[in-house]
Amino acid sequence: PLQRDPPVIRRLDEEVVNRIAAGEVIQRPLSAVKELVENSIDAGSASITVVVKDGGLKLVQVSDDGHGIRYEDLPILCERHTTSKLSKYEDLQSIKSMGFRGEALASMTYVGHVTVTTITKDQLHGYRATYKDGVMGCEPKACAAVKGTQIMIENLFYNMAARKKTLQNSADDYPKIVDLICRFAIHHMNINFSCRKHGAARADVQSVSKSSRLDAIRSVYGVSVAQNLLKIEVSDDPSSSSFKMDGFISNSNYIAKKIAMVLFINDRLVECGALKRAIEIVYAATLPKASKPFIYMSIKLPPEHVDVNVHPTKREVTLLNQEIIIEKIQYAIESKLRNSNESRTFREQV
Ligand code: ADP
Ligand code: MG
Repeated sequence: PLQRDPPVIRRLDEEVVNRIAAGEVIQRPLSAVKELVENSIDAGSASITVVVKDGGLKLVQVSDDGHGIRYEDLPILCERHTTSKLSKYEDLQSIKSMGFRGEALASMTYVGHVTVTTITKDQLHGYRATYKDGVMGCEPKACAAVKGTQIMIENLFYNMAARKKTLQNSADDYPKIVDLICRFAIHHMNINFSCRKHGAARADVQSVSKSSRLDAIRSVYGVSVAQNLLKIEVSDDPSSSSFKMDGFISNSNYIAKKIAMVLFINDRLVECGALKRAIEIVYAATLPKASKPFIYMSIKLPPEHVDVNVHPTKREVTLLNQEIIIEKIQYAIESKLRNSNESRTFREQV
């Protein structure tokens, strides 16, 4: 073969590095909404409002009534790896907040135009600042503000032509965003969520604080879902309490073409393909007219058993002893379904 000179290795410009990383964290408008809403949850908000224009490509705006951002912190707010949540690596083991690595806001400034309006407790007015490529545009301007923070992302992917085209050519993210907010709303039932299209008079999701999980599910997904749910609970031997699961699963009357699985692990909205498949298998084997189930499940594990830092979007986590946990859940679901089916058959016979 032809001997070529080895190519020169160069250090990439920081700007290029940051934009590449940003494209991984903010993969689509949906990821921007998820990061912003998680920040609002981390800020202790009781009310979170999402407004979306053009599937999020023109505008994503998330407003909350949380603790706000200190004036002094505004200059570094959108730099990479600036966070109020983590200070040393070991903290990752016990982190309770959704965020921890200070990359979300920074990433958004590398792929869109970011405006932050915020006011902290006991302030007479708020501040507004704009950001691009990690840097604050100019001195924050004093402005009127209500409690909390509003973050606006405009023109997402204006500088990533291929990504923007792909997103424009496919169905827009708005339905996915609505679905995301529904999921948050049933888990965080003390937070009022709302989500609407820019300019729309009516919200597509409007949740109000509920005292029971079933009420929360009913208000978001409707009676037809809520009336066909079974409560499910599993916990390890009570003394160790190392693993707990509780949730609602659909019964044999529930009909759907696709599985709907809302999974929170240690209060993080995540996906777990292995668990999802395992549950589908149980349903197919246990219920005669194998319909696809609706599942809401909240799993609590000791934080040191959950690795939250395995995915750039934090979409997945890894669990210690995942197989054992999945087996326990499968077993619990199977007995629940069998029991309810038997009692139903019994009722029908009477
Ligand atoms: P992370 O959430 O990993 O810390 P982000 O880039 O998402 O990183 O946010 C950086 C920091 O900005 C957060 O640590 C938090 O202090 C602050 N922040 C972001 N959004 C909000 C908000 N809605 N309310 C209050 N503080 C916020
Ligand atoms: Mg965050």
